Amino acid sequence: MLNIVLFGPPGAGKGTQSQMLIEKFKLIHLSTGDILRNEIKNKTTLGLQAKELMDNGKLIPDDVVINMIKSILEKNVNSTGFIFDGFPRTQEQALSLDQLLKHQNTSISAMVSLKVDDKELIKRLLSRGKDSGRADDQSTEIIANRIEEYNNKTAPLKLYYKNQSKLHEISGLGSIDEITIRLNSVINSL
Ligand code: ATP
Ligand code: MG
Repeated sequence: MLNIVLFGPPGAGKGTQSQMLIEKFKLIHLSTGDILRNEIKNKTTLGLQAKELMDNGKLIPDDVVINMIKSILEKNVNSTGFIFDGFPRTQEQALSLDQLLKHQNTSISAMVSLKVDDKELIKRLLSRGKDSGRADDQSTEIIANRIEEYNNKTAPLKLYYKNQSKLHEISGLGSIDEITIRLNSVINSL
């Protein structure tokens, strides 16, 4: 199996690049943000619990997202692989993911981290907010919360994968196609 963690701060372009990867490498796209937004849309218990945290740019508790991922992995034991977008976001999530994959006799193949500076992130998110309608894309204050959560809790995961020689960092600046080419060359070299 090819299991890729697509990593980077909010607005780095993970969702956009995932669309290309799932087609080219026949992977299942697993975006915790998309799953949570769907739960909110359907007004499920989980969605109602997650909404306030998400709207304010805070992370959802680890056990909630870990259970979501667990049930999807269990339903797709025979797939070609996964692209993890927006997960793991904490050390605890990374440890759980390793355990879950080990259970299925597989593991993370690589983390590809998209590097984008804060100024560009804020610009992209505010611009997306105009048509996404996402509450967390509307104000610089909430975007700052998201970047802070990323820097404090999520960015340290690069070291976790680096220590396993799985970290690949690429620039997330430039056109969508240019970034796709960079990503493809990393994955083809695995
Ligand atoms: P992108 O790079 O696609 O613009 P993003 O990282 O800002 O996106 P999502 O991944 O869609 O956005 O996540 C939106 C929100 O969903 C987060 O701010 C958080 O509240 C919640 N969330 C998503 N994934 C997780 C996770 N793994 N752990 C905790 N909270 C999560
Ligand atoms: Mg996304």
